[in-house]
Amino acid sequence: MAIATVNPATGETVKVFDAHTPEQVEAALARADAAFRDWRRTSFAERAALMRRAADLLDEDNASISAVMTLEMGKTFAAAKGEASKCAKGMRFYAEHAEAFLADEPLEDPSKVSASRAYTHWQPIGPVLAVMPWNFPMWQVIRFAAPALMAGNVGLLKHASNVPQTAVYLEELFRRAGFPDGCFQTLLIGARDVEKVLRDPRVKAATLTGSEPAGQSVGAIAGDEIKHTVLELGGSDPYVVMPSADLDRAAEVAVTARVQNNGQSCIAAKRFIVHAEVYDAFAERFVARMAALVVGDPMDEKTQVGPLATESGVTDLEEFVADAVAHGASVLCGGQRVGTAGWYYAPTVLGDVTPAMRVWLEELFGPVATLIKVSSLDEALEVANATTFGLGSNAWTNDPAEQARFITELEAGAVFINGMTTSYPELPFGGIKRSGYGRELAALGIREFCNAKTVWVA
Ligand code: NAP
Repeated sequence: MAIATVNPATGETVKVFDAHTPEQVEAALARADAAFRDWRRTSFAERAALMRRAADLLDEDNASISAVMTLEMGKTFAAAKGEASKCAKGMRFYAEHAEAFLADEPLEDPSKVSASRAYTHWQPIGPVLAVMPWNFPMWQVIRFAAPALMAGNVGLLKHASNVPQTAVYLEELFRRAGFPDGCFQTLLIGARDVEKVLRDPRVKAATLTGSEPAGQSVGAIAGDEIKHTVLELGGSDPYVVMPSADLDRAAEVAVTARVQNNGQSCIAAKRFIVHAEVYDAFAERFVARMAALVVGDPMDEKTQVGPLATESGVTDLEEFVADAVAHGASVLCGGQRVGTAGWYYAPTVLGDVTPAMRVWLEELFGPVATLIKVSSLDEALEVANATTFGLGSNAWTNDPAEQARFITELEAGAVFINGMTTSYPELPFGGIKRSGYGRELAALGIREFCNAKTVWVA
C-alpha cells in the first residue's frame, strides 16, 4: 500500500509520501538506541514536564490536527477534536501517575526471604516498536507513547500507511515539546518492512494494534526473537439486552456503540443479542434511530456518520450484507452504499441473523449491526461467547443476579453493565482469545514494557 493521504470523502489522493530508505531506518534505530541510554536516567519529574508540554501543544493544535485526521481517515471533525483532547488528557494522566505506578514494591516482611530488604523494581527496557492502525490515528499511538516515554523507554512508530500526516505530526509534537532527539520517531515504512525493524537487536519489544493477520505476523516474529509483545486485535463485541433493561436508554446508547467512528472501532458493539420478551420493542427503537442518522461530509457539524476510511472497507461490508441476505437475513434499514463519490455506507441493521452467515463470527468494521433473538440468560451468554474474539462486552439488565452472571461469564477483556465499552486512561484495556493479549492504559499499561526486577539485599 502506498504511504499516502487519500481523502475518504472523495476518494482523491491528496499527498503521497516517499517511504524511508533502509539508510534512514538505520539512522533512526541508531538514534533510538543512543537516546535510550540517556533518557532512561532522567527523573520522572523531567519526563512529566515534557509530557505536560506536549499535551499543552496538542491542545493548542486541536483544530488543525483534527482536520488532518478527518482528511486522512474520514472520522467526523467533532470526533477528531474529541480524540485529540482525550490524548492530551491521557498524556497528563501518565505525567501525573507514572512515578507512583512504577514505585518500588517492597516485601512487607523481608526476613521471610532471608533478606534485609526485598522489593520489585520497575525498569525501562529500551526502544519499543509500535505498529498502529488508522482508526484512532492519534489515541492508539498516545496510549502507547505516553506510558512508554514516562517509563523511560523510547518509541518507534510504524503507523498505518493511510495516516502519514498524523504520524509525522506526532513525531514533531514530541520534538517541539522538548523530548530529546530519538525519544519518539516515526518510521515511514510499509508493513513488509516491519520484520527487519522488529528483528533488529536494538528494538526490545513491540506493540501492535490492528487486524488478526498483522498480529499473527508480528507475534510470530517477536516470538522467534524472544521479544515481548502486546497485541490489540479485532473484536465483535456483544451487546446484550435483557427484559429488565431501560429500553429507551439501551437503544439510544446502542446506536453510538455501533456507529461511533463511522462504525470502525475495535470495541464497537457489533452483535445485538436481545431477549425475546423485549426484542420487538428494542428493535423498533434501535432501527428507527439508526435509520435517522445523518450520513455525509465529515467536516459538516450536522454529520453523524462519515465515510469509511478505505474503499475496501465499503466492499467488505457489501460482501457481508450480501452473504447474510443470501442466507436469510432481513435488512431492517440501510443495506447499501450512499452516493457515488467517497466511501459512504448507510447505517444498517440486519435481522434474523443465524450462524449460517459470515456476520455471525466475523468482524463488521463499519456501521452495520446484527440483531439476534434469544430466549434466556443462558442462551444470551452462549451466543455472546460464541465468537473467537474477546475484546469488550456490554450487558443491559437491572437484575443484580443477571449482572453478576454477565460479569463472571462473558469471555472478554472488559464488561460494561448498562453502558457501552469505552477506554479511560484509569482503566486497563485489552482482550482475550483472538482479540490479543497484554494490557494498555492504567498501571498495567505502563508496566507492560518494563522489567519487573526482583531486588534482594542480604
Ligand atoms: P491492519 O491492516 O492490521 O493494520 C494495522 C497496522 O499493521 C498498520 O500499521 C499496518 O501497516 C500494519 N500491518 C498490516 N499487516 C502487517 C504485517 N503483516 N506485518 C506487520 N505490520 C502489518 O489493521 P486495519 O485493518 O488497518 O485496522 C483494523 C483492525 O484493527 C480491526 O480488526 C480492528 O478491530 C483492529 N483494532 C483493534 C484495536 C484494539 O485495541 N484491540 C483498536 C483499533 C483497531 P499498513 O497500513 O502499511 O498496511
